[in-house]
Amino acid sequence: MNDLKTIVELSREFGGVEFVKGGGGNTSVKNETTLWVKPSGTTLKGLTQETFVQMNREKINALYEVETPSEAAAREELVKNAMADAVENDAGRPSVEAPLHNVFNAKFVVHTHPALVNGLTCAKGGEAACRRLFPEALWVEYIDPGYTLCMEVRQRIAGYVADKGGEPALLVLQNHGIFIAADTDEEIRALYAKVMDVLSNEYARASVSEMLEIEDVSESPETEAHIKTVFGDDAAFVASSGMFGYAPGPITPDHLVYSKAFPFIGELSESGAAAYKSTRGYAPKVVVAGNRVYGIGNSQKNADLALELAQDGALVMQLTEAFGGINYMTDAQREFIENWEVESYRAKQVS
Ligand SMILES: [Zn+2]
Repeated sequence: MNDLKTIVELSREFGGVEFVKGGGGNTSVKNETTLWVKPSGTTLKGLTQETFVQMNREKINALYEVETPSEAAAREELVKNAMADAVENDAGRPSVEAPLHNVFNAKFVVHTHPALVNGLTCAKGGEAACRRLFPEALWVEYIDPGYTLCMEVRQRIAGYVADKGGEPALLVLQNHGIFIAADTDEEIRALYAKVMDVLSNEYARASVSEMLEIEDVSESPETEAHIKTVFGDDAAFVASSGMFGYAPGPITPDHLVYSKAFPFIGELSESGAAAYKSTRGYAPKVVVAGNRVYGIGNSQKNADLALELAQDGALVMQLTEAFGGINYMTDAQREFIENWEVESYRAKQVS
């Protein structure tokens, strides 16, 4: 099918580091009966026509009507099983955002987390700036991802349609990213170009650099060895760079998944590591020590991603200065992600 070929092209085009990191973002294409969506935990760039998960739209639609348990874990379990039941090929588990993709009538949907966009979505003045810069967009405040987000967005889109006579092409999610939906690939490209352009102009106007400054600090084999000793298996692999203005708190679900909400900035010692673990309930993925920043992990890929997302988070924080500064996720929002089985599945898939 030609549309599948087109969505593969779009996935590769919007799968670069300026749009997504790790297994972040997802794409889909649909007809009346079928939705093809990115499998969970895969990368946009690596998608082929064969790897898309084929889903029965009637079954996804039925999910919107189901009475769900109020307890989060039980609800996500039910949704996960219903989604698995809607899968018609053996391409794996669909992206957790599949029901949200299905809500749009538009044929193509491309969802990404560009730093340039998150400079807006993670800013205190993000909503006001979004209304000013993209009056046609649908802005949705932070909602726990997955089923809850899908159901709420579905309602908002219905309201938007009632109001304006058509669904939004641009959905902006606070502390998360954007969805762009259109019937042709040209429209998707044009809308993305417009969004990125408008934001670039705003950053320039506010004299906020789109480049993250990374200090030129030489590597320290001693510190690296010390980190490996202190964090053991959690630091079996290490990636590092010179110091940058890392974000000290939770920014978006993806930053949490790949680099955790809080970097380790304490004294590099067994007791310092133990204190972090007992406070947080898990080992850090980012360690700041000796004027360098380290991504740590149980594989080189995980260590690299931890550092990459820490740098992305730092850039996002820098960009939010154009819109009133950073707006962190709340404890409840952070804890939902930290306890979310679906996300740990994604983090595992990428490793
Ligand atoms: Zn996302």
